[in-house]
Amino acid sequence: TNMFSEPITQLANLTSTIQYTIASAERIFQILDEPEMSTKQRDIPDDKTGDVVDFQHVNFRYLPDRPLIHNFNLAVKPGSTIAIVGPTGAGKSTMINLLEHFYDVDSGHIRINGVDTRNMTRPQLRKNMAMVLQATWLFKGTVFDNIKYGNLHATKQDVYKAAKLSHADDFISRLPDGYQTELNENATNISQGQRQLLTIARAFIANPKIMILDEATSSVDTKTESMIQEAMERLVQNRTSFVIAHRLSTIQNADDIIVMNHGHIVETGTHNELLKKHGFYYRLYNSQFAGVH
Ligand code: ATP
Repeated sequence: TNMFSEPITQLANLTSTIQYTIASAERIFQILDEPEMSTKQRDIPDDKTGDVVDFQHVNFRYLPDRPLIHNFNLAVKPGSTIAIVGPTGAGKSTMINLLEHFYDVDSGHIRINGVDTRNMTRPQLRKNMAMVLQATWLFKGTVFDNIKYGNLHATKQDVYKAAKLSHADDFISRLPDGYQTELNENATNISQGQRQLLTIARAFIANPKIMILDEATSSVDTKTESMIQEAMERLVQNRTSFVIAHRLSTIQNADDIIVMNHGHIVETGTHNELLKKHGFYYRLYNSQFAGVH
């Protein structure tokens, strides 16, 4: 159908840059998915007592002579928020790439509810995880269809509800044709902030077990910024979340923080534990967040 032919055209143009950026990875993730297959896939069993995500002895390198992630272990309890922090190029996206199984780990395991992600199909992964990243991915089509893409079985009411939860309904109702407004290719006829709100609405409708968010905010006005922030906070509530964190409140409230530098995980712990160490996080925190409220 029309809804999917566009992404497939885009795929042809994308293949050359696949490896390099999470933005492309996100597109491929969404494009290569065969959403109609997802209902046929076996659900990942719910493991209420166990860890929803488990990194065990994970080792990873992009290039043979440049080891990055070394023997990383982290057990993530259902409903918790994991913040990933570090300077640019630190490896934050790499962690997300591994979690999403865009790359195989060299050794060790990443499990979701006890199942190794290497043994999960793309639709299974997609069913369990949704991403809201800086690089938004929207297709030429109506606002309605762009939101619904998060869950093709969603009803009209689901779409409206997701738009409300994400605060996107506010701007949608002011568009010339409301939900039936046609977006251009790459949604250039709405603002960057509005594109992000739509991506958040799509994540709400997907209602995944695991939410992956990038808090980095590009140049949006302060009102949109606070709407995005509020919607993101709502999105991670009662849900296991990994947040590439840029906000003080996120790192302070996180159940665990993964601190990265030069591609490596240098420290993990809660905000208070990490401050007490007087190590890399302590310095990063003081340079980036001290005095910020
Ligand atoms: P930013 O905040 O700028 O988005 P980041 O913390 O997400 O950065 P990554 O994108 O994970 O950082 O990059 C971590 C390191 O791995 C960097 O040194 C980067 O150059 C390198 N890297 C990332 N992707 C690849 C790849 N596909 N091949 C080789 N090296 C890569």
